Amino acid sequence: MSDDKSRPSRRDALKLAGGAAAAVSVAGSFPGTLQAAAPMLGVMRPNIYRFKLGSFEVTNILDGFIQPPSLHPTYGANQPIEAVQALARANGIPMNFENPYVSTLVNTGKELVLFDTGNGKGRQPTTGNQRELIASAGYQPEQIDVVVITHGHPDHIGGLLHDGKPAYPNARIVFGEVEFDFWKKGVVRDARKANLEQFNKVAVPFAEKATFLKPDGEVVGGIRAVNAFGHSPGMLAYHVESGGQRLLIWADVANHYVMAIQQPDWEVGFDDNKEMAAATRRRIFDMVSTDKILVAGFHMPFPSIGHVEKTSTSYRWAPATYQFNL
Ligand SMILES: [Zn+2]
Repeated sequence: MSDDKSRPSRRDALKLAGGAAAAVSVAGSFPGTLQAAAPMLGVMRPNIYRFKLGSFEVTNILDGFIQPPSLHPTYGANQPIEAVQALARANGIPMNFENPYVSTLVNTGKELVLFDTGNGKGRQPTTGNQRELIASAGYQPEQIDVVVITHGHPDHIGGLLHDGKPAYPNARIVFGEVEFDFWKKGVVRDARKANLEQFNKVAVPFAEKATFLKPDGEVVGGIRAVNAFGHSPGMLAYHVESGGQRLLIWADVANHYVMAIQQPDWEVGFDDNKEMAAATRRRIFDMVSTDKILVAGFHMPFPSIGHVEKTSTSYRWAPATYQFNL
């Protein structure tokens, strides 16, 4: 038995020598150049995603995000922080988090229908570019036929105006009737006082030319409202159907893909009626998981489409992958 195993064989030695020679000859062909280290460029992320739903085209647009320092007590306000930490750990996410703002634009072939307008300029450093993003997705803001406001919170109504004028000048505006009446009445919890002021400033001026929907009301052919009351007293989700394919644009039914889906009963700080919001989550999760309806969620991780699956104890978010590119 030879003791040569620890030493390179003659063949290995030749290979090494050959490699070294090749390296020298490549370097030698660029005399005098010294490879500089590539600079660090920071996070880069996609912000437009379009897919087909039957004969419709659906475009999701990410107009910014916030990155709050802790999931608790925004999620699980009625739970000890340890429970929230354990759920985060089990899903491989840290306690600080990201909340994205994702509007959905549906082209039915006859109408362009935009769901929500984002924060608008100035509310968050990363937001306020929805019109530009819509343009880079291939549409002009003037082409939008209908703007649907799912509910009156700032991240959904903030982009109704642009420089004090309608951001989508040719669009009919659709509000939920219960939601609009709630804000008009003007009785809100303290945390919504500034929101009420904003609603009066940016949404109420559209009232005369707006359409007001009840649950089941139709926006245009193939798109109808679904009761999603709770997160805001009159929030509506929207069911979109084309060629036998179905999508629920669920607005803020759940606004964190782990916390609000795996634990639908945990209190969410953003919810105005916490009990009703939890009951709505359970009803909608049951519907979309049973009927296997695709979901577009305003605060789901971009591109913000996926399914809700039943688990042995509750539900989980299953992001869509390539299904809708095919
Ligand atoms: Zn929201």
